Amino acid sequence: MTVVAYVGLGSNLQDPTAQLARAVMELARLPETTLQAQSPFYASRPVGPQDQPDFVNGAVALSTKLPALQLLDHLQAIEQAHGRERKQHWGPRTLDLDLLLYGQEAITHERLTVPHAELPNRDFVLQPLLDLAPELALPDGRRIDQLRTQCPDNHLRKLPPLMQRD
Ligand code: AMP
Repeated sequence: MTVVAYVGLGSNLQDPTAQLARAVMELARLPETTLQAQSPFYASRPVGPQDQPDFVNGAVALSTKLPALQLLDHLQAIEQAHGRERKQHWGPRTLDLDLLLYGQEAITHERLTVPHAELPNRDFVLQPLLDLAPELALPDGRRIDQLRTQCPDNHLRKLPPLMQRD
């Protein structure tokens, strides 16, 4: 079965835009997976501790035959390859990859909650999703465009298309 999965990308260390661009290429090379579309990148203020650089965020749509947990394994391997260390909750990171949506499945597993639990509260996730799929809705029927109008403001700034740099 082929599923359209949406993956959120974020980084605020070691040239965040380059981290994201490289991660998109790595996602495109995953087995049994095709990169369907890539959103623009956005700069946003950090959630949580403010004594850290702004983030760069984006999202991709993948068409994949990988089961959700295997896809998560691959996302975590890519994070590790980017030197990700889990130190501080909501702290700075070289690369954060979140499985935002996996088709219209709702998944509750000790390693994986889909849709991603924070998705409705984050403009830097909702806006790239809207760019990719304006009609998108969660499995419970809530529309992404509606959630976008209601979520907190993280001072999102769209980065220029070619440079995509902060
Ligand atoms: P974070 O620090 O935000 O990267 O959280 C990573 C942890 O969240 C890992 O232990 C994952 O197993 C877990 N997790 C649960 N749901 C998801 C999801 N939808 N996408 C990515 N990680 C998830």
